[in-house]
Amino acid sequence: MVAIKGLTCIVIGGGYAGINAVKAIRKTFKGQASKRTLRLILIDKNPYHFRKVLLFKPAVGDEDITIPLTRLFPEGVEFVQATVTKIESGERRLLCQDAEGNKNSIKYDFLVLAVGSVVRQPDPDQGGMALASLDAAWKIREAWRANIKEAVKEKSAKERQRLMTIAVVGAGISGIETSAELAYFIREDAVLLGLDPSAVRIKLFNANKRLFPAGPAKVGLKLERSLDACGVTTLHGSRVLQEKEGALTLSNGETMSVGLCVWTLGLLPNPMLQSIGLPITPEGYVIVDASYRVQGAQGVYSIGDCARIVDPASGRVDGKTCKEATAQAARLGKILSADIAGHPTPPHKEFIYFFCFALGPEQGMVWTHQWGLDIIFTGKLGWRIRKFTWDSASLLK
Ligand SMILES: Cc1cc2nc3c(=O)[nH]c(=O)nc-3n(C[C@H](O)[C@H](O)[C@H](O)COP(=O)(O)OP(=O)(O)OC[C@H]3O[C@@H](n4cnc5c(N)ncnc54)[C@H](O)[C@@H]3O)c2cc1C
Repeated sequence: MVAIKGLTCIVIGGGYAGINAVKAIRKTFKGQASKRTLRLILIDKNPYHFRKVLLFKPAVGDEDITIPLTRLFPEGVEFVQATVTKIESGERRLLCQDAEGNKNSIKYDFLVLAVGSVVRQPDPDQGGMALASLDAAWKIREAWRANIKEAVKEKSAKERQRLMTIAVVGAGISGIETSAELAYFIREDAVLLGLDPSAVRIKLFNANKRLFPAGPAKVGLKLERSLDACGVTTLHGSRVLQEKEGALTLSNGETMSVGLCVWTLGLLPNPMLQSIGLPITPEGYVIVDASYRVQGAQGVYSIGDCARIVDPASGRVDGKTCKEATAQAARLGKILSADIAGHPTPPHKEFIYFFCFALGPEQGMVWTHQWGLDIIFTGKLGWRIRKFTWDSASLLK
């Protein structure tokens, strides 16, 4: 019998796509254990899986939204903490740098690139604070808490109102969830400090004409009503240009007084993809085929926010959210196994239309379109489904 060489598979990125890819690859290879041994390496620049979708939580409270990667994979996976700088696909080798600046190279047979995206930030002269990282979330929390304490001492009603007003700019899922959570927790603090909680004003600035343009108008309206009930006012077709010393300037020339401006402007391709050594689209996403193989790079696959993935049947480009990332990861396990065995690989299929929104603690909304029907869950049930999606994407279920 011919001995079959063991394989080294490296997954770069311990975000939603990466950890689910590790899980799927391990599952696939368990079934093949007698034929092949697999050395599975997970590389991330951080020692933890960062639960990005919960970034609004540290902006309001103490919740830890990181999970050590070694806790997620206590055995069977080697973890390397390093920043990958280059993929030399001709040599099947990657270059990386650890936290101390030491450079290293690692050889692979198969590589999965899942380095995600970055949060879009306003220009520095636009002021305000972008909800872009853990550090930024903590600073946002410090800022509104300082404002509300200041409001207790403030004699001028106008200035007190300014200190109790927050602008959330960008009304995607992140802006909706952040504004609902801020409204709830700032009101709670206001009560504790003896302030009138109804004076807390959260203004959500939406550049579009309605909320949730990806779904039906009635869902956008329902979301808006739920936000209103939480104490969030949505301003449609409204662009914020700048926040400076408590004054917000809008594109229509209006100004408004605010204590804090939080930007939630969506995502951009990871800038490191420009120099990683793989082909990218003009927008900056990795070019892959219908089975996530990177064009012209043998043994390299890419999934999640960093790749441009198209359903070959419908021609639609996959969204950049956790549900797409986790579904791609599950399929990638089967693709790798088929590629190794020389079998046809399963092609990408778009994920069902399904969206979840948290609307403050224990409140949520879920919308999906099935069998020609709009199905909506609200309230506690909506929140339970929301929580389930967060937890399962982070392998907590
Ligand atoms: C504030 C916010 C709210 C969001 N809300 C939602 C939501 O409600 N629902 C939803 O479905 N999606 C939401 N998203 C989008 C969702 O977070 C992404 O679609 C998802 O994180 C994509 O997963 P990923 O694994 O591709 O990338 P990421 O989760 O970004 O993971 C990438 C990983 O790669 C690592 N990495 C990056 N560069 C390197 C490098 N050079 N070397 C080594 N490691 C590297 C990073 O440290 C990270 O761990 C939100 C995103 C943000 C920022």
